[in-house]
Amino acid sequence: MEKYQAITLKNFRDFPQVDYHLTKQEKFAVDVVGSVLPFRANNYVVNHLIDWDNYQNDPIYTLTFPQEDMLRPAHFQEMADAILAGAKKGEIKLIANKIRRQLNPHPAGQMEQNLPILDEVKLTGVQHKYRETMLFFPSQGQTCHAYCTFCFRWPQFVGMNELKFAMRDTELIIKYLRANPTITDILFTGGDPMIMKTKVLATYLDALIEAKIPNLRTIRMGSKALSYWPQRFVTDEDAADLLRLFEKARKSGIHIAFMAHFNHPNELKTPMVEKAIAKILDTGTVIRTQSPIMKHINDDPDTWATMWQRQVELGCVPYYLFLARDTGAQHYFSVKLERAWQIFREAYQQVSGIARTVRGPSMSAGPGKVQILGVSEIMGEKVFVLQFIQGRNPDWVARPFFAKYDANAIWLDELYPAFGEAKFFFETEYPLKRKQLKVFGKNVSLKEVVSSLTILN
Ligand SMILES: *Cc1c(COP(=O)(O)O)cnc(C)c1O
Ligand code: SF4
Repeated sequence: MEKYQAITLKNFRDFPQVDYHLTKQEKFAVDVVGSVLPFRANNYVVNHLIDWDNYQNDPIYTLTFPQEDMLRPAHFQEMADAILAGAKKGEIKLIANKIRRQLNPHPAGQMEQNLPILDEVKLTGVQHKYRETMLFFPSQGQTCHAYCTFCFRWPQFVGMNELKFAMRDTELIIKYLRANPTITDILFTGGDPMIMKTKVLATYLDALIEAKIPNLRTIRMGSKALSYWPQRFVTDEDAADLLRLFEKARKSGIHIAFMAHFNHPNELKTPMVEKAIAKILDTGTVIRTQSPIMKHINDDPDTWATMWQRQVELGCVPYYLFLARDTGAQHYFSVKLERAWQIFREAYQQVSGIARTVRGPSMSAGPGKVQILGVSEIMGEKVFVLQFIQGRNPDWVARPFFAKYDANAIWLDELYPAFGEAKFFFETEYPLKRKQLKVFGKNVSLKEVVSSLTILN
């Protein structure tokens, strides 16, 4: 039985494959980038998921090991200089926090806009953005078995504490669920709720089951444990108890939805993950899968088609394909909107209807989850056709709308309405905050800069 060993900034040189393969420069890059963005891997990832003979092109290596280009050159240089000068821990931390604040640590207004209030108490471990679904961040589930280098949750792993969401009080969430009968789903998230010992998770689930909240129909677990530590469901000492807990919740009439995060088909190849999936399915739990699309990891159609096909064969339901969020190392991973749509389309065409349960590409942006339906031309104008899959206002959902085509756009805040309209239909309620640039001390939008450049030409 393989015992979990964390690989961190402090000990990564002690792992033979890592020490043997990485060049001196790559190890230094881990030191530098890992001082700003979180880094954590483990023995399963290193021993079973990474192909070390080709590690520089290996998707799981890129997914878990920090690379020089994940920081902008100036940021990298600043931290590298500090480390080379032998800066003390406190000094490194100050520099790291300064850089982190420039990396949009809380995208999509998560902190300010979605915090529910109950009897004048702010529920800091809860986000309630969409009518049906409440996100719950149990305080003991705020870390992961390994960290994804693209993760938008990174601030909570690097000790920027004021950015952490977390909550202990089950009573409060039960009260909130009762007070909001439109909520049918509670989604346990983190970090990774599967990091919790079964005993701890059981205190939450048992309370939810016993409360018999009529509107609570689905409990979702958002987790990457199936790829990073499938032993959690097979050989860990409380694995069997966890499965029994799922079964119990299921038998109480609640749908248990395991939202598995898989980024690449290589994560679905090991005998351990196969066993883990089978065991979870045996409890009556349904596994749905989701992943962002990212350069260097999965930005080609065949990878997605292979992954969805494999998931279906293992009994999982493909659910979402996301665009990488505008935070952290997004410049390294980002795929342009049009390219993401092409990849989605070419992958979707390759699989049968059974795997076409997947939806995307979708951006989790301030107003909601916006899907790119495609690029089209209407009355001579090239446009993006978009729709909300989820919206702050449920009435926005499934209503096509149009943005001016922009070959370089990677996020919603770079798009402008088509056909000369002043704003998108939802902006009367929720104006988009578009990226602003300072030019001669004046705030101007990217679009204004581009059009003035055209005039100068
Ligand atoms: C994605 C998401 C959900 C769940 O949305 P579904 O479409 O029901 O899967 C809930 N809350 C937030 C904030 C989300 O981003
Ligand atoms: S498993 Fe999820 S929460 Fe954890 S680092 Fe990866 S993306 Fe972030």
